[in-house]
Amino acid sequence: MRIDIITIFPEMFEGPFTESIIKRGIQKGLVEIHLHNLRDYSNDKHKRVDDYAFSSGAGMVMMIEPVDNCISKLKSEREYDEVIYMSPDGELLTQPLANQMSLYNNIIILCGHYKGIDERIREHLITKEISIGNYVLSGGELGAAVLTDSLVRLIPGVLSDETSALSDSFQSGLVSPPVYTRPREYKGWNVPEVLLSGNDMIINEWKLNQAIERTKERRPEMYEILKKNNSNNL
Ligand code: SAH
Repeated sequence: MRIDIITIFPEMFEGPFTESIIKRGIQKGLVEIHLHNLRDYSNDKHKRVDDYAFSSGAGMVMMIEPVDNCISKLKSEREYDEVIYMSPDGELLTQPLANQMSLYNNIIILCGHYKGIDERIREHLITKEISIGNYVLSGGELGAAVLTDSLVRLIPGVLSDETSALSDSFQSGLVSPPVYTRPREYKGWNVPEVLLSGNDMIINEWKLNQAIERTKERRPEMYEILKKNNSNNL
């Protein structure tokens, strides 16, 4: 997968993309991430990428031209599955959406700033808008990093078997059961006896029941969907 990120703050990605799973995906050659500094695509002598909104007191808005220049250049080099804009009013990022998007080959992610981007960019250049939650961030960079992480970990070969994404929360419509490690007892806090039994069948049944109980308690709306589909014989 190739991900092209358009941003005015490329340095913001240094932390998230140079550690852990994303770093491993890049090193294994399973994902390529290219950061594009929007200012490099501005024809303005001060490299401006924003201007005043056409309404008083509304703040600054990202201009069309630099964004169009950058997207047009990228599109002239390869085909893209989607040109994404990170936006608080976009489609909410969920595991099913991440699963679906992880099959893409090439995507562009545009990070907004200030009051947002000129609406005509959204109308003419953007094909998908994604929100990471119903709250407002200062810029699209953190959202783009979240989206990228959620996609990269699903690319086959990025995670090792033990950390397989298939057993994570939301993959089967359930949240994850609790997990434990050594020691068996700490300050009188014990690991559930069943996990020490060595009986895989009983352990798996316990894990499924725990996942169902947690889902019922913490994500009642997900539990209702499960019940409707009766996917786990509830
Ligand atoms: N005035 C806009 C918010 C702009 S915030 C509004 O009220 O809708 C500046 C930028 O941060 C946006 O252009 C967007 O790219 C990014 N952003 C803010 N919140 C986000 C969210 N929840 N998900 C994804 N991107 C977000």
